[in-house]
Amino acid sequence: MSRPDAICRSCGHTELDSVLDLGTTALADRMPYENQLHEAEPTFPLEAVFCPKCSLVQIMETVDPAVLFDEDYPYFSSFSKYLLEHSKKNVLEIIERRGLNDDSFVIELASNDGYLLKNYVDNGVSVLGIDPVPALCEAAEKIGVPSMAEFFGLKVATKLAAEGRQADVIHANNVLAHVADTNGFVAGVAALLKDDGMAVIEFPYVRDLIDHCEFDTIYHEHLCYFSVTAVDHLLRRHGLFLNDCWRLPIHGGSLRLFIEKKDAPMASVTDLLAEEKELGLDRIDYYREFRHRVETLKTDLLEMLGGLKAEGKSIAAYGAAAKGSTMINYVGIGADVLDFVADKNVHKQGRYMPGQKVPIVAAEKIQEERPDYVLLLPWNLETEILAQEQAFRDAGGKFIIPVPTPHIV
Ligand SMILES: [Zn+2]
Repeated sequence: MSRPDAICRSCGHTELDSVLDLGTTALADRMPYENQLHEAEPTFPLEAVFCPKCSLVQIMETVDPAVLFDEDYPYFSSFSKYLLEHSKKNVLEIIERRGLNDDSFVIELASNDGYLLKNYVDNGVSVLGIDPVPALCEAAEKIGVPSMAEFFGLKVATKLAAEGRQADVIHANNVLAHVADTNGFVAGVAALLKDDGMAVIEFPYVRDLIDHCEFDTIYHEHLCYFSVTAVDHLLRRHGLFLNDCWRLPIHGGSLRLFIEKKDAPMASVTDLLAEEKELGLDRIDYYREFRHRVETLKTDLLEMLGGLKAEGKSIAAYGAAAKGSTMINYVGIGADVLDFVADKNVHKQGRYMPGQKVPIVAAEKIQEERPDYVLLLPWNLETEILAQEQAFRDAGGKFIIPVPTPHIV
């Protein structure tokens, strides 16, 4: 099915092909409070499409960032121990690779509460965090990470460059895929990066999304789903070149790109581009069969949950993550199935899951209530969360892992 009304965010091509239509849903990170339960939640279409010209998978609807990232935006990233360790290792590798010292300057885009940049500060490297959420910038400042509350784009980049504040290293983790002005963001990176600087960018890899049926990583904040092929087209348009590229297990499978202003690709890049061509990531057929697998997952998960309820089992969920919102809303898992969703993040507790309105409670509730089964919504943190809930498992509690096919552990 072709979408003649659509325009590619990267190359401007029209007539994009539909990959997966998840219907019209509530925003994944807009969790209503009790006193908002009677209000209608804003809902928006959620459909992934493919650009046959530059290979970019993307969703069509752009929700106003002011609506997405309002003052109630609940994500403070320091809550994941795994993410903290991942960031520290990343920073130490970059300091060594680039020979950074106290003359160096590092900027992070979407710097959140400063958890990544703090590692540079600890090693004597000057930093600046840029994040649109003022509360996150305040939290970052408190741990010694200078931060500015701005939406990053060419304008902010040009201003900083004019002040002589170009960067030796720019980090942008899980933000390129989230910005509405894809080309403006990349143009900004090019303007803000020193001529011999390096940008280090991470985002989930569309190949892992498709291969492991991770459809729940599709939500309104997440506008683009990149392959190496697609990002290569985007970068070259702005005089940036992908010279090294690693596949990482984080977030269900991610890419870490090492980008410079000279065209000198290592084998890691040319190999991945060749693999993608061979697998067909530049053609719609690769994405078509994915839709069928998502529909099967939905049927299987509903059957599993329905069967357990029929046996009189109690079921809760763990992790009020954005992907959890896509999962329960697309599959249709409501408060009639789930007693609650447990989460460690105090900013989410006391609120409700978008759409399905399942109450979000403290993580300790799993131990207190001891449901028979717990549906693990952030399945990408399976190892960490299963270890954390070992006492629950030792007492006979079971987890349901929804992807790539629903199974019980
Ligand atoms: Zn395109």
